[in-house]
Amino acid sequence: MMRMICINCPRGCELEVDRNEEGEIVVKGHSCARGIAYGKAEFENPTRMVTGLVRVAGMRRPLPVKTKTAVPIGKINDVLSALSQTTMQLPVRIGDVIIPDVAGTGVDVVATANQG
Ligand code: SF4
Repeated sequence: MMRMICINCPRGCELEVDRNEEGEIVVKGHSCARGIAYGKAEFENPTRMVTGLVRVAGMRRPLPVKTKTAVPIGKINDVLSALSQTTMQLPVRIGDVIIPDVAGTGVDVVATANQG
């Protein structure tokens, strides 16, 4: 059984998620359907957004970036490693893809600021 807080709205329902005897995932503690979907997703394949910085060639100030969508928790170290190995050339605009398919997740890392 897993306990978690639903983060889909400020209410922050405390969820309990487990499998029943038939192997189905059962969510308790939710106040709406979004909590059921969140609980099931976190139980089966927890994911997180990743934010970070990448180097910019010739500049002291790094570029802030984020994954475009959440990535599996087990891939976060690989994503951070990819960020640390990346050096960008300016100019860069918000939303530009900095690392496509980062760490084989199918998710792009994009710029969150304009530079250059
Ligand atoms: S279950 Fe529904 S009401 Fe509760 S925190 Fe999640 S989104 Fe909000």
